[in-house]
Amino acid sequence: MSPEKPSFDTLCAHAGTSRNAPAIDNLPFVPPVVQSTIFQLGDSAQAEAIFSGTLPGYTYSRFGNPTVDTLAATLARLEGGAGACITASGNAAVLCAVTIALAGRSGPLVTHQDIYGGSFELLRILHEVHHVPVEWVDARDEAAWIAAVGRAGAVLLETPSNPLLRLIDVAATAAAAQPVCAPVIVDNTVATPFNQRPLALGADWVVHSTTKYLNGHSDMIGGALIGREPLSDLARRIHKNLGGTVNAFDAWLVLRGLRTFALRMAAHNRNGAAVAAWLAGHPAVTRVHYAGLPAHPQHDLARRQMQHGGALLSFELAGGEVAARRFVDRLHLIVHAVSLGGLESLVTRPAMSSHRGMSPTDRARAGVSDALIRLSVGVEAEADLLADLDQALAGL
Ligand code: PLP
Repeated sequence: MSPEKPSFDTLCAHAGTSRNAPAIDNLPFVPPVVQSTIFQLGDSAQAEAIFSGTLPGYTYSRFGNPTVDTLAATLARLEGGAGACITASGNAAVLCAVTIALAGRSGPLVTHQDIYGGSFELLRILHEVHHVPVEWVDARDEAAWIAAVGRAGAVLLETPSNPLLRLIDVAATAAAAQPVCAPVIVDNTVATPFNQRPLALGADWVVHSTTKYLNGHSDMIGGALIGREPLSDLARRIHKNLGGTVNAFDAWLVLRGLRTFALRMAAHNRNGAAVAAWLAGHPAVTRVHYAGLPAHPQHDLARRQMQHGGALLSFELAGGEVAARRFVDRLHLIVHAVSLGGLESLVTRPAMSSHRGMSPTDRARAGVSDALIRLSVGVEAEADLLADLDQALAGL
């Protein structure tokens, strides 16, 4: 590592700080929360220069805010992108990305049936209410996926997917999208830039729910959209006018969370792999969905495009839905709550929570059964997690 090119872990430890700021004496090391809607414009000539962009400056916090911009620059660097927009939620980031990617395009938005339930519902609204062409593909059929990408206006994919942890080959998708110039958006929420860099694999955009691992403390909602190329004026205009901008304090919380991001992810990855392997060997468990397991059908792809398996997994029990409900009710340490990516381990049944808004037919098509249990493995001591799982599975 050289001081000019710090390693990923060092970038995280110094995330958003004034460590590399221009030589202005006495800056606070930790960035301040600029909790102001408005900024003084100065005289008319200066106001005109700021609004026209010839003089750097701020006008109104929906258009730009120093704390939020610090987060944007930090996330762009961690993902290896050239620019980023910060949004008020992960769903707002998906909406913003899709709106930008489809601008001037006539083909459909190609996505897959097992995308996260909130993204699925959003796309259903865009399709059914606003008549945006969307094509949902069963991406397990790789040939069908690549063929659909080859006639796409834009592509939105999630790998690993939530909650089935299925993978899609990002490099192959980007190669298939290139001849038709379809922008490829990858939701990297589950993997995070610690475990996977979609832009380096050929994607055009990465979206995140910063609510999850990037913030990591289950205390805010936010999103981000990171581009391989610098953001165009149109992208900035769409982001500004869709209006889903984050407030400065929530952006600051993500910056604070990022300082420990590399440490947290190392612990998440360790526990995720240990819990997945333990569950796979338990007699009450019929199936574990986790691409980090050598027996997983997409393990080779996981090794090619991911650095680690991550800490989200799902599984099914021999006793089906009844056993799944009993299992959830018996857990002591692992918290029954939605979301993922916090320090604490969380359990849900997606069919009754995150994927509830999908029709039973769409859920069945996506492979999300009523018996499916999703586990977001936290950073607690591995032995405590295994003991809790063991007592909850006993006799099921
Ligand atoms: N993308 C994925 C993969 C998610 O899991 C989620 C939320 O669970 C979202 C997007 C939406 O994020 P948010 O809830 O911050 O809007």
